[in-house]
Amino acid sequence: MPAEIGEVALVLFSGGQDSTTCLAWALTNYARVETIGFDYGQRHGVELTQRPIIREKLAGLDTDWRESLGEDHVIDLRVLGEISDTAMTRDVEITTNEKGLPSTFVPGRNIMFLTFAAAVAYRRDIKHIVGGMCETDFSGYPDCRDDTIKALQVALNLGMESRFVLETPLMWRDKAATWALADELGGHALVNIIIEHTHTCYLGERGERHEWGYGCGLCPACELRARGWREWRSAA
Ligand code: ZN
Repeated sequence: MPAEIGEVALVLFSGGQDSTTCLAWALTNYARVETIGFDYGQRHGVELTQRPIIREKLAGLDTDWRESLGEDHVIDLRVLGEISDTAMTRDVEITTNEKGLPSTFVPGRNIMFLTFAAAVAYRRDIKHIVGGMCETDFSGYPDCRDDTIKALQVALNLGMESRFVLETPLMWRDKAATWALADELGGHALVNIIIEHTHTCYLGERGERHEWGYGCGLCPACELRARGWREWRSAA
């Protein structure tokens, strides 16, 4: 929902396609925007090195965006990588477990991310926390569901005696609609930044440049991104 002028947002910004689109959305809708990222020992640690590059590129697109873009907070959550045994934090095959969850699911990840983001937002007196969670075209992650986020909003507000609003602009968009939203927010220039600089591939592969960006082209994250791209292009 569009915010009132003067409001501040904290964006969960990983350096991927979704969170970059969320950052552009927040820069369009809020007077001031800060970003937060997490180092949790992810195999695709390359996304962390892409973050400052993408922030700088977005600021270069629009003078209002440059003025709105505030501090970046990088939080060390490597303890999450130490306690979880997943294909995102260990060199194991991407499979599906007996609960139907992919082995790339990191239990507690989004819950921890949003909790730490709220702790930073509390300190910085920020009301709006923006995340790229999506229930429509998700990878089966239960912590991306709208109900999980809404329940967490209630828990955080009760537990911190606050009135945070967790904003999820991508919740009901599929990947094709996420590409379309980027185009709407920043045109070809933004779409090109997403193609060239954002990172989605689970394997951290940046060797081959496809029309939708860099990645192995085969892992579930690459497949989703590529499929969304093709659907958006064929509808355009
Ligand atoms: Zn990949």
